[in-house]
Amino acid sequence: MRTTWGSATDRGRVRPHNEDSLLAYPPVFMVADGMGGHSAGDVASRLAVEEFGRLAGRATVTPDDVHACIGRVAERLRGAVGTQSAGTTVAGAAVVSHEGSAYWLVFNIGDSRVYRWAAGTLEQISVDHSVVQEMVDSGELHPDDAREHPERHVITRAVGTRSEPDPDYWLIPAAPADRLLICSDGLTTELDDTQIARLLATEPDPQEAARSLVASAVEAGGHDNVSAVVVDVAAARDAADVDTTVPPATVHHVWDEDVDGATQPRPTRPHHPEVAP
Ligand code: MN
Repeated sequence: MRTTWGSATDRGRVRPHNEDSLLAYPPVFMVADGMGGHSAGDVASRLAVEEFGRLAGRATVTPDDVHACIGRVAERLRGAVGTQSAGTTVAGAAVVSHEGSAYWLVFNIGDSRVYRWAAGTLEQISVDHSVVQEMVDSGELHPDDAREHPERHVITRAVGTRSEPDPDYWLIPAAPADRLLICSDGLTTELDDTQIARLLATEPDPQEAARSLVASAVEAGGHDNVSAVVVDVAAARDAADVDTTVPPATVHHVWDEDVDGATQPRPTRPHHPEVAP
């Protein structure tokens, strides 16, 4: 499978340092948003990129590779910062081969996000591990109010020093002409989905798309570090090796029983919006 991609990151207008890190090197695309005092957040996100960098350059990776990688980030982080509290979000997508077809393994822990732009529609693939997401899920908070909520920065999971990382995974077909956006919360707290979709729709070059998304978020306030990775799957006519027999990109939460059970996404939450009152 052939991909083209672009990436951009910016300190923003308020934070003294950029504690976001990113990796865009096939078959792995990810962002990490570090947190912790005394530059520990910077260390945490850079460790994540270093570990994922070890998968770069391969044709494909396996879900076990990604899961092991996240485990190593936690392990190295504990070694690096000792008893200090530090952590990082990790969100991204990696090319995996599944029954002979190319798929994206989307992974997430924390509130960085993975979106898919396909057929004119923007869809958030990852689910935030955050207090406001839980409030939205329980029906307590309207999704439109989540971006303004005072607790919007409080996350409920991270790759950190205090517990074993507990990421979610999704396996989605890598369909020709699909575009993925991986970003830190500094982008999504400044730009809403409509603004993000407009930029992804109007900028065909992935590097220009990433640059302009980050620039727009900084312009909109830049209250946090901002990072974006944009990945395009080459159109079928340009890449004979893309398997066009892969079903349309609509499948969510697909996981085969024979893939390591320890990496299954957690079951649907009891208070999923669909069943909320
Ligand atoms: Mn952030």
